[in-house]
Amino acid sequence: MFEKVLIANRGEIALRIHRACKELGVSTVAVHSTADATAMHVRLADESVCIGPPAPKDSYLNIPAIISAAEITGADAIHPGYGFLSENARFADIVAAHNITFIGPQAEHIRVMGDKIAAKTAIADVGIPLVPGSDGAITDFESGRKSAEKIGYPVLIKASSGGGGRGMKLARRPQELEEALATARTESKAAFGDDTVYIEKYLEQPRHIEIQIVADSHGNVAQLGERDCSLQRRHQKILEEALSPALTEKERVRIGEITRKAIAKLGYLGVGTIEYLYENGEFYFIEMNTRLQVEHPITEQVTRIDLVREQIKIAAGRKLSFSQKDVTFKGHAIECRINAEDPRTFRPSPGEITHFHQPGGPGVRFDSAVYTGYRIPPYYDSMIGKLVVFGDDRKHCLARLKRALSEIALVGVDTTVPLFVDLLEDPDFQRGEYNIHWLEKWLEKDK
Ligand code: ADP
Repeated sequence: MFEKVLIANRGEIALRIHRACKELGVSTVAVHSTADATAMHVRLADESVCIGPPAPKDSYLNIPAIISAAEITGADAIHPGYGFLSENARFADIVAAHNITFIGPQAEHIRVMGDKIAAKTAIADVGIPLVPGSDGAITDFESGRKSAEKIGYPVLIKASSGGGGRGMKLARRPQELEEALATARTESKAAFGDDTVYIEKYLEQPRHIEIQIVADSHGNVAQLGERDCSLQRRHQKILEEALSPALTEKERVRIGEITRKAIAKLGYLGVGTIEYLYENGEFYFIEMNTRLQVEHPITEQVTRIDLVREQIKIAAGRKLSFSQKDVTFKGHAIECRINAEDPRTFRPSPGEITHFHQPGGPGVRFDSAVYTGYRIPPYYDSMIGKLVVFGDDRKHCLARLKRALSEIALVGVDTTVPLFVDLLEDPDFQRGEYNIHWLEKWLEKDK
């Protein structure tokens, strides 16, 4: 096992990783920007190093500063968390070149899956069904026109380097294609420094269903069931459930097995997620995330498996502590992303939390790094914490969620708590009947 792990992240995920390390008897090094000097991940870590000014490019994305921090403190592994450098293959290579273990997959897999066009090819090769789409990149209008015609309208133009739901444009009719292509390319260039785009069939009513996988370096691969992340705004997840209220047991077993076999063929290492759109009983691959996901705790709750602990052990060369046949699902879990934002306009609301009382009691987990007196900096995402609630079944889970939301007392900044309180009253949501477009329509209706 490692002696010391440097956590190259901030906020709740830095704390989550710190907790897993301490339970494994591993020391932790926090890195932080000048804006985060008093953050909880810094206070709790065994050691901490300031790696630069507030702007992410100068601190949490500053590779030389992070490597120096690891060398100075003698860390033997680096955990990148999610976001920031977690899907940066070059970073994984540099970490390895310094004889430090990168807690994540091989750089080669990060590279392939980070290029969505290459990812689709690699994934199709191992037997996973895809959303119908263009053969590779679309370089000019004429090839785009032909491709869209073949796929059939409506089509979605997507950025090959895309992430966070950005760089996607819809063309419902042939007349809309030229402008959609041009806008997608410009936006993609601005956001990712790459204007490579491709075309996919636009699915009208899908759910977002993703499968959690975990693989060790001894050839063991397990799938830990699905998460339903269909409640989205601007293609960003707001609330997630495990398991999905929409799948039958037969469908669950089928897609789980397809995914597990494919990942084994790929020779993947560590934790990862295969994301699908699910419509009319069919699954279509959209992308693979080669890291720990924000919403990993709901899988932990229904499987009773500590994913971060497994991830660290796998990176240290250990075997998975369970096999596929040990994976059973119990109860139901829901995660709400509580952000410092206006609950209707989603405008960020940074500032000082003057009073905070955390929800608790049976089945309630609050993954957060905030405290009374904490000032939410304006430089990073606006997450306050993840409210994760577990119940015997979905109905019990919803009752607990309502109870837990009513316990949160947070003064000083706006939060998205009222949004979840209202959502819980909606009959469609209560029945679990929603798709990826449902939340945006619901928000519109309410205006
Ligand atoms: P990103 O990496 O930017 O998050 P994804 O490919 O994972 O992009 O897609 C994010 C979300 O966009 C999906 O969860 C879904 O809501 C929507 N989406 C992506 N592809 C399609 C498609 N072909 N049809 C309809 N919606 C899509």
